[in-house]
Amino acid sequence: MPGSRIDAAGMLQQLMIESSPLIEEYTRELCPGCTDVCCKQKHGIHRERDVIYLGALGIDIPLRDPIRPPEGPCEAIGERGCTHPRWLRPFKCTWYFCDPLLEAMNDGPQKKARLLSRVMTEMIECYDGLKG
Ligand code: SF4
Ligand code: SF4
Repeated sequence: MPGSRIDAAGMLQQLMIESSPLIEEYTRELCPGCTDVCCKQKHGIHRERDVIYLGALGIDIPLRDPIRPPEGPCEAIGERGCTHPRWLRPFKCTWYFCDPLLEAMNDGPQKKARLLSRVMTEMIECYDGLKG
């Protein structure tokens, strides 16, 4: 368990960097054919704990267009998915697993699924460690 907010933020950033290729092994198969893309403008907003996390890292929150419709596509989405590195996105963008992703984990190699599950637990512990 991280000892301070700065430790929690640093560990969370590192875990997101390290786990991103593993998460993308699933998303690159599923997301290009998705008919109900989850990346809506309202989901790309940094919440209080995301602000604490980036603040502890000394990083500015990415600017957002306040007049974009919340139900429309997130302004950070590009032709090949999110244009932000995972560690800069709101944490929700990483912990949210849609049903097709969960099914792919259940149906695919269990060693890989267990590894991802373990790293998700560690990330959630770090995120909890950022509580105000
Ligand atoms: S994560 Fe799931 S809901 Fe979101 S774009 Fe990919 S397949 Fe679609
Ligand atoms: S993953 Fe990126 S594009 Fe999708 S909602 Fe989050 S910030 Fe927006």
